[in-house]
Amino acid sequence: MNYLNYYPVDVVNGPPGTRCTLFVSGCEHQCRGCYNKNTWRLDCGHSFTQEMEDKIISDLNDTRIKRRGGLSLSGGGDPLHPANLDAVFKLVRRVRSECTGKDIWLWTGYVLDELSEAQREVVALVDALVDGKFVQEQHDPSLVWRGKC
Ligand code: SF4
Repeated sequence: MNYLNYYPVDVVNGPPGTRCTLFVSGCEHQCRGCYNKNTWRLDCGHSFTQEMEDKIISDLNDTRIKRRGGLSLSGGGDPLHPANLDAVFKLVRRVRSECTGKDIWLWTGYVLDELSEAQREVVALVDALVDGKFVQEQHDPSLVWRGKC
């Protein structure tokens, strides 16, 4: 898996509090009006290494950061892209077992009812799922966590 960006301290992508946010690479939805087309390719950005995975776990457990809520997995790009599933599943399992009290939010362009078995395994470990493509005709800037990805 590749990723575009990582914010070790983020207060925007998720519920109130401080979060770690990972923006993964690779998206096959091709939504009209997507403002993240540079994230569609699986090979854009940086390689998601073991060191990066370890850093996220360490950041989530960093007690110097107050009100650390959890991990946000976002794009553009899609954490549930089939090519990203192994790495994302490994990461969320570690968060579940090693980061007590931290929640996981995940944004995807896929729809919950249409997920594959492997995608459902990831979602089962997630606290909040924001699903579905970006629909330009329904774009509403007042929506807090959906309507963008
Ligand atoms: S799901 Fe997000 S990144 Fe993918 S095409 Fe749609 S808006 Fe763009």
